[in-house]
Amino acid sequence: MSRILIVEDEVAIAELEKDYLELSGFEVETENDGESGLKKALEEEYDLFILDLMLPGVDGFEICKQIRDKKNTPIIMVSAKKDDIDKIRGLGLGADDYLTKPFSPSELVARVKAHLSRYDRLTGSAIEANKIIEIRGLKIDTTARRVWINGEEKTFTTKEFDLLTFLAGHQNHVYSKEELFREIWDMESIGDIATVTVHIKKIREKIEVDTSNPQYIETIWGVGYRFKV
Ligand code: CA
Repeated sequence: MSRILIVEDEVAIAELEKDYLELSGFEVETENDGESGLKKALEEEYDLFILDLMLPGVDGFEICKQIRDKKNTPIIMVSAKKDDIDKIRGLGLGADDYLTKPFSPSELVARVKAHLSRYDRLTGSAIEANKIIEIRGLKIDTTARRVWINGEEKTFTTKEFDLLTFLAGHQNHVYSKEELFREIWDMESIGDIATVTVHIKKIREKIEVDTSNPQYIETIWGVGYRFKV
């Protein structure tokens, strides 16, 4: 369950927000002054913050700034003054969203859900396991962009790596040089399909024991290349 901290000095508003968010299945805590809000925000783990701008003690600007120094947690700033919202946008404090009071509870809930799912996607991809391709002694870590051949790491240029990974990711599929060029080099690239031949040669020098008898990338005469299954 996602945990949300609301820092809002108008108790009635804080309670209303809390009620609606709890009804939507969130775990919600409220703080009614800036100092205790800031302390909680920094010391405890939350999935999202809703910060009122004008607060006794430490204001929402400062809380937002201090959270951002330490955490990437989504922050929604709320204020009764449209001008203040424009001002904080301009300051670039790193808030993710802004709401002008009064707003409808359903709008708040919608924004909270949107930011939580966006953040989940971001952090989800960050901790996702590296994608590894392993074929007969060749190991490609496509996330870290590293390649090993029989346990020994080899260095590849960006395009060599992209080309190798593309072919290895589409085993047994024959690609023409034109197709590979379109796939790996964008249209703006200077060069022509001979570039593909040069890169295949360089890749083979790194991964093949005998480049005249390639075990990985096979030349299909008159057609193109295929990564052997
Ligand atoms: Ca206030």
